[in-house]
Amino acid sequence: MLYHSTSNHQTAVRLEQAVIKGLAPDGGLYVPDALPRLPKAFLRNMSAMTLQEMSYAIAAYTLNSDVPADVLHDIVFETFNFPIPLVETASGKYVLELFHGTTMAFKDIGARFLARLLDYYRQRHPEWHTLNVLVPTSGDTGSAVANSFLGMPGVNVYVLYPRGAVNLIQRAQFATLGHNVTAVEVNGTFDDCKSLVEKAFMDDELNSVMRMTSATSINYARLVPQMIYYFWAYIQLEKLQRDTRNLVFAVPCSNLGNLASGLMAQRMGLPVKRFVSVENQNNIFYNYVKTGLFTPKPTQYSIAPALDAGCPTNFDRIIELLGSHENVCRHIHAYSYDDDQIVQTIQHTYREEQYLLDPHTAVAYRALGEDLKPGETGIALGTAHPAKLKNLMEDIIGHPVPLPDQLAHFIKGQIHVKKISNGFTAFKRLLMQT
Ligand SMILES: *Cc1c(COP(=O)(O)O)cnc(C)c1O
Repeated sequence: MLYHSTSNHQTAVRLEQAVIKGLAPDGGLYVPDALPRLPKAFLRNMSAMTLQEMSYAIAAYTLNSDVPADVLHDIVFETFNFPIPLVETASGKYVLELFHGTTMAFKDIGARFLARLLDYYRQRHPEWHTLNVLVPTSGDTGSAVANSFLGMPGVNVYVLYPRGAVNLIQRAQFATLGHNVTAVEVNGTFDDCKSLVEKAFMDDELNSVMRMTSATSINYARLVPQMIYYFWAYIQLEKLQRDTRNLVFAVPCSNLGNLASGLMAQRMGLPVKRFVSVENQNNIFYNYVKTGLFTPKPTQYSIAPALDAGCPTNFDRIIELLGSHENVCRHIHAYSYDDDQIVQTIQHTYREEQYLLDPHTAVAYRALGEDLKPGETGIALGTAHPAKLKNLMEDIIGHPVPLPDQLAHFIKGQIHVKKISNGFTAFKRLLMQT
């Protein structure tokens, strides 16, 4: 299989280059020249498989022998090493709980897969010495990526986060790890963190002395495992003997990697009636669906911090997959909610349905309620565990939210951070030192 850039259809690279580079040299995103259509018989027989077996089978079809079978098998089995239950709520809607991994956000899935694939390539390139992973974060990406690469020989991870804008539990998930993970507190905004990383990638001097890569959803390898869990939702409905004919997925959207993954699953043959994209007040994609105009804006902070993106990076992949604005509108219904609406939804669902939604999952769940028609089956993607934002959740519902052991364990650790200004010189000096 070959991959081209969304900015230039003439480029043809192999998976290895697409994954190592992350972003194409022309600034575009890598996409496969074609996605295979899964055989009908495979879809019919899928429900006899375990999560890991199904995941490996779909990954093998998708990557089409780009990675040796035994290597891919291990990567997939180590990625999907926790349950992904489909939970039916009191109102008959479903939440696909993607948050039972190490850091309790769905990003564990994409990050674990990418980390293991990069590790495989690193072992084939002894001349790299060290691979440096630079990751700007508002919380979830940094912790998922740092934990996925933690302790891997030959890899250094730098997590850049905006001072004062990441909550304590999330910060503890990357700033207490030590070993090969460096937490960098930037005196600036999330957009400043992103821009520091972009400058590092373009800096000739840094590129001549160190091998750098990004682990954000720019990287195609993050999307492959994310596509897989849409199939897993379908299998679970089948096992429950529920109607799978009019399936609607609601996705909390920020950089649109998750939505792009869902569209890929549909392209490969998963019967999805439509997707519902849901943003907070950073509603760049919503505005695109309504007007046909894509207009990035500065990021606004909200109570759903992982949705705070003012320039969704995977937009071009969505357009590449669907082709036109008209087609986007046919496949996707868009919604956008402010903080008050998120709070109302969490309170209402907790009170009436005894289900505790985290603020990210809440936007998807609310939109599903508004968008579903009779006879349709609705699944909201549950992207984070509510305890990740424990204090906020307790304020919203007025009850204690217990911290799972997995998260409590991070809180006990000692915090180590390197503090820098938002100027590039300081960041470059820090990278050159190590
Ligand atoms: C990253 C994230 C999202 C948004 O996913 P995208 O692929 O960037 O659209 C939603 N919810 C949570 C909890 C996240 O961490």
